[in-house]
Amino acid sequence: MVVATLDAMAHPRSETMDGRPPESRGRGRFAPSPTGELHFGSAVAAVASYLDARSRGDEWLLRIDDIDTPRVAPGAGAAILRELERLELAWDGEVVHQSARRERYEAALQALRARDLCFPCACTRREAGGRIYPGTCRSGLPPGRRARSVRVRAGDGACEVVDLVRGRFRKDLALEVGDFIVYRADGIFAYHLATAVDDAEQGITRVVRGADLLFATLHQVYLQDLLGLRRPEYGHVPVATGRGGKKLSKQTRAAPTSARPASDVARDALTFLGHAPPPDLEGSPPSEFWSWARGEWSLECVPRAASRPSPPDWDE
Ligand code: GLU
Repeated sequence: MVVATLDAMAHPRSETMDGRPPESRGRGRFAPSPTGELHFGSAVAAVASYLDARSRGDEWLLRIDDIDTPRVAPGAGAAILRELERLELAWDGEVVHQSARRERYEAALQALRARDLCFPCACTRREAGGRIYPGTCRSGLPPGRRARSVRVRAGDGACEVVDLVRGRFRKDLALEVGDFIVYRADGIFAYHLATAVDDAEQGITRVVRGADLLFATLHQVYLQDLLGLRRPEYGHVPVATGRGGKKLSKQTRAAPTSARPASDVARDALTFLGHAPPPDLEGSPPSEFWSWARGEWSLECVPRAASRPSPPDWDE
């Protein structure tokens, strides 16, 4: 069972042990997908999770979510690490790559299979119909059809998280999405499964990330509960939008933060997160912003909105 291996990754080397024994410290993480360079929106998620961890004396880990290989941009992972270094956001321990952890996801899938909590599905995306899976292959593959993907059975009843920023959030997964994919037709483990397993096996206690992933959280805690894995706490901060009101992303050609002075990135990310740094820090190295912010940081000061416009110059 997956739980038995939790200790394997539970205590990576820490650069900032803070005088406390490892087991009493919480752990945060930043888990970018290497689909492009760090942009203002992803920098905000990095800063929020970093400060949430550091202000509590917790560890902060870095995981590169490169399981979705068709979306990986060559060199993007290395560029993200370089940019985090330039922004003086120092992480603890070794960087973990999801692409190296496939056997852990396979073990989780086996654990679900062993208890009949998932099933093979032959449906194409079109056959699976819109957003809610109609349950076609739930009781077995239709005659003559081959399995393409694997779906987890969505249980009855509401799934709920109490988010540290956005409060109570609950939905009935069976009604909202139906049985959802944990192993894709292209042979890739689904993001929800990989993330649920990794966060638990890495011993993450608090996940702080963009509010676009709030609904994803329900899928992930649902899987963690099925697998007997420990749930982290969650805090979802606003997503940065550009001029058209769309989330900044590679698709909207968001500008890389590396093109701007590091101190501007630090100032703007903090301000966006409801923590305006004093003007005398202007032009200082990012580490000085982080030292100031460590003492000031509170998720209560972070706006509760799901999204916010980016500051000028970041909104293209
Ligand atoms: N890797 C995904 C992303 O960059 C998800 C991150 C997460 O789970 O925090 O959007």
